[in-house]
Formats: sequence, C-alpha cells, structure tokens
Amino acid sequence: MHREAFLNFQPKSMLNLVLFGPPGAGKGTQSQKLIEKYGLIHLSTGDLLRSEIAQGTELGLEAKKLMDQGILVPDAVVIGMISHKLDANRDAAGFIFDGFPRTVAQAEALDQLLHSKGENISGMIALEVGDEELEHRLLLRGKNSGRADDANPEVIRKRIKEYNDKTTPVADFYRSQNKFTSVNGIGSIEEIFDSISAVTEAL
Ligand code: AMP
Repeated sequence: MHREAFLNFQPKSMLNLVLFGPPGAGKGTQSQKLIEKYGLIHLSTGDLLRSEIAQGTELGLEAKKLMDQGILVPDAVVIGMISHKLDANRDAAGFIFDGFPRTVAQAEALDQLLHSKGENISGMIALEVGDEELEHRLLLRGKNSGRADDANPEVIRKRIKEYNDKTTPVADFYRSQNKFTSVNGIGSIEEIFDSISAVTEAL
C-alpha cells in the first residue's frame, strides 16, 4: 500500500449494541427495527438455540431441557455460538446482541472476542418494564408464539427470576464502562424505538 493511501486509511468501526432487558421487554421487536434502520446483524442467542432445536442437533436437544424449565443454558454453549457468528460476519456494519450477554462471564467473553478483532461494544440499551407487565405480555405472546416457555406461568416466573439473579449484574458491568443507558420500555413500539434511536445516535 502507498504511504499516502495508508495515511488516508480509516479503520471502520462497528456499531455494536447490546439490547438489554427481561424476557418480554420487547428486545426482539426493537431489534427488527434497528436492523432495518442501521443495517446491523441481529444475534439472538434464544433464536440461535431454537434453530438448533428445530434442526434436532445434540446441542439443541440438551439446551431444550433447560429452556423448557426457564433455566439459562451453560455460558460455554452461547459463547461458542456467538463466536462462530462473529467470525461468519466479519464485514458487518455491526451487531445487535439480543438476549446475550446474560451473565457477567458472557459479557467478559464478548469483550474478549470483540477486542481480539479490534472492536468493542458501543453501548448497552436497557428496556425498563415492570414484572407484572412482563408476565402479562409473555402469557399473551405464548398464545401465538408456540413457545413452551411462554405458555406456562411457572416457567415465566422462573425466567424472570433467572434474569433478576444472573442477568441484572450485566448492567453494572456496562455501567462501570460508562456504556449503560436505560429507556422506558412501556409505550408504543414507535415511541420506544424513537428513544432507542436517540440513544444510538448519541453513541
Ligand atoms: P430468549 O429467546 O432470549 O427469551 O431465550 C429463551 C431461553 O434460551 C432462555 O430462557 C434460556 O434458557 C436460553 N438462552 C437464551 N440466551 C441465553 C444466554 N445468553 N445464556 C443462557 N441461556 C440463554
């Protein structure tokens, strides 16, 4: 490469968003809109696991036993899936991480994976929704989604408990890096998306 070309070379940096919030907060819906607006790749570990289940893989069968009870699958399983997807999409404008990281160990692993590629997380955006509203939304979703884990109130409560016990510390992980912003997750899809877009554009 000529010296001049080298000096003009600007490494492009990715827009990497963690969309955070409890089950039923609206992460999937808002991810779809973010993909359309910013051309990002959507990485939902829940969707990736459900695809493994649909294909009847060994990983899927093992994961299903835990997912049907509302329990998190082991960190190594989801970290491996994310690592694979990052490698497969090297030219992406960026990623939306949806439902990942769900533990501090996953957040640390994600930082390492991105740093090894010269990238990092741009910011975490948390959707704030109260527990009662979540239960209500998930039971409603269960009527259409066909997801076993949305249909059973006990499993829904277990998922919310897993979130409160294991996932909420992930917010502090990003807060300590000054990358945390929360938005109100109650309102119309458009209102919430406007809030998320405003945060994204300020990153
Ligand atoms: P979701 O579609 O994000 O609500 O995830 C559905 C289920 O998949 C969860 O209740 C967990 O059992 C499992 N799961 C999804 N993502 C993760 C993750 N990052 N870590 C551990 N388990 C996960």
